[in-house]
Amino acid sequence: MHALAHPSASPALIDRYGRQIRYLRVSVTDRCDLRCSYCLPKGHTSFEEPAHWLSFVELERLIGAFARLGVARVRLTGGEPLLRRDLPQLAGRLKALGLADLSLSTNATQLARHAEALKAAGVDRINVSLDTLDRGCFEHITGRDAYAQTMDGLMAAKAAGLAPIKLNMVAMRGVNEHEIARMAEFCFEHGFILRLIETMPMGDTGRNAQYLDLGPVRDTLVAQFGLLPEALELGGGPARYWRTVDGAGRIGFITPISQHFCASCNRVRLAVDGTLYLCLGQEAKFEFRPLLRGGATDAELEAAIRHAIDLKPERHEFTEQPTKIMRFMSQTGG
Ligand code: SAM
Repeated sequence: MHALAHPSASPALIDRYGRQIRYLRVSVTDRCDLRCSYCLPKGHTSFEEPAHWLSFVELERLIGAFARLGVARVRLTGGEPLLRRDLPQLAGRLKALGLADLSLSTNATQLARHAEALKAAGVDRINVSLDTLDRGCFEHITGRDAYAQTMDGLMAAKAAGLAPIKLNMVAMRGVNEHEIARMAEFCFEHGFILRLIETMPMGDTGRNAQYLDLGPVRDTLVAQFGLLPEALELGGGPARYWRTVDGAGRIGFITPISQHFCASCNRVRLAVDGTLYLCLGQEAKFEFRPLLRGGATDAELEAAIRHAIDLKPERHEFTEQPTKIMRFMSQTGG
């Protein structure tokens, strides 16, 4: 990788390694109603105080500044984003900034109530996290008997016409690995795109998760379903896709550990307190809340964003330094 100084006259956000940042993930809350074993510890209640949370006005202003610098894709996440009051209203305000792509990651427990409002607000597509099709296994992983509620949410999103729906399954050895093929069939049947994700060592929960290398899993699925590599880029993210022969079914593999994709990383993550994390697996960060609350002008915000992007590390070190990151995924904005 060669280090590039970005030309300051260009509106684009280009980091020191020549990567253009086009994608912002925005955590709108660090709260969650589930306690997934690889994410939040059971009994965890020490959430940020709402006074520290960026308001909708602050989020709109900051995301507007990113948008002027070429970030056209925003994903709302958390914590569980649908626990943030009036989230569809925020979605509508952000879509009005002219974003090309506004998406949402959710556990779907609240989705049945919000699917239509999200669609009406201009949310282009959603990702639903679902690790199992078994009610008991769902409760084992998430700490809550909310499988039926989640399924209702998922089907409500489909009925509301939110498409495509990507279904994110964190694959874990001895926990849900035996369900992967069944999950693929379920997704093919419903027109969902399955994405399998390797666990990352974030916080003690992520470190203690039953990591499963997706390389051999992919080989098995390719043989079982006769999958072909997908030539098209779907969504501009890190997933590498395979498709069924008729093109109707797709499976994406997100392999941050076995085959990392840092060289093409195009994203940064804004936490609910206004901290911008430049990498999931590093401490590099920049605090925007003091600027937003201290009367910074739009030009100052844009300059601060450029400065922050210059702090983006080349790559994570999950393998070399697995105990480095203490924060849970829900704090960063997964
Ligand atoms: N609550 C929303 C949801 O369930 O999609 C958004 C936030 S959640 C933290 C985002 C994604 O991060 C989920 O798909 C979750 O499974 C994943 N995740 C959380 N901790 C992880 C870890 N240690 N390794 C890999 N993925 C993780």
